[in-house]
Amino acid sequence: MPNLDLRQAWSDLLRRRAALAPSLEAYAPIIERWASEAPTIRPLAWSAEECRARWALGLPLLADAPPPLSAADLEDTLGEAMESLGAADETLAPGLQRLAEAWDSGGVVPESLLPEPGRLGSGAAETASGLRPGVIGFLACATLRPTLETYVTPVRAHLGAGDWMLGVCPFCGAPPGFVDVVEGGHRRLACHFCGSAWIFAKLRCPFCGVEGTKDMARLSAEDGDAGYLIAGCRQCHAYLKELDRRERWNGGPAIVEDWGSPHLDVIAHRQGFWRGVPSLLQLAAGS
Ligand SMILES: [Zn+2]
Ligand SMILES: [Zn+2]
Repeated sequence: MPNLDLRQAWSDLLRRRAALAPSLEAYAPIIERWASEAPTIRPLAWSAEECRARWALGLPLLADAPPPLSAADLEDTLGEAMESLGAADETLAPGLQRLAEAWDSGGVVPESLLPEPGRLGSGAAETASGLRPGVIGFLACATLRPTLETYVTPVRAHLGAGDWMLGVCPFCGAPPGFVDVVEGGHRRLACHFCGSAWIFAKLRCPFCGVEGTKDMARLSAEDGDAGYLIAGCRQCHAYLKELDRRERWNGGPAIVEDWGSPHLDVIAHRQGFWRGVPSLLQLAAGS
């Protein structure tokens, strides 16, 4: 079963991060919206062999199995995400208005928001709205997650060790949004678009593929924040936040931990690093 209801995990996090709770309020409508969803999409019913045949070619499943998306089903979620963004940064209002018009006229369709190689969405939404790619990337994630999660949940079990070595999600093709460090020190990358995860090389950058400790910058918050770390790449300057689950057993789902630690994004941005999957608070701060 897909887990669309993150309300309990989110309120646990707000309790743990009480000082940040007022700014994290911006995410509440999206968390609520996701919990109320019952996507009508028919889940992908591929066999393990069908999945592995694509993975062996380096293809995420969505490349060969595009999800049948319905604009009518997605528009309330898109509307909620647009409202949250507009409230967080009023200067986005004209672009959001143009995006709404393009959605209504069919110039921007749900497929325009799907992850594509090297980008989030086809580019149609940026062209129609004038909004920057990061804004569209956040809207795409917030709009599609419940549907994509429902779509890929049955095939997740088919992913075995060694089936997938790339730095994008083996299911939907999006870049990773967070890292969980698990038993044995393995890095499990989390996809915010479809809620899946996959094990990835310990010392390789998922964004540019460079390998080795000398290219990896590791930053942490001044107060320690045990278990949390920022791993940045000195080559492409992408970063991901990491949570060592062996140290922090009571952490929430990856997207909750990611959205709930904006203080670490501030540190990463100050050092000149960028995120593959934008966060609402980062966009609201203008970056
Ligand atoms: Zn994914
Ligand atoms: Zn890199």
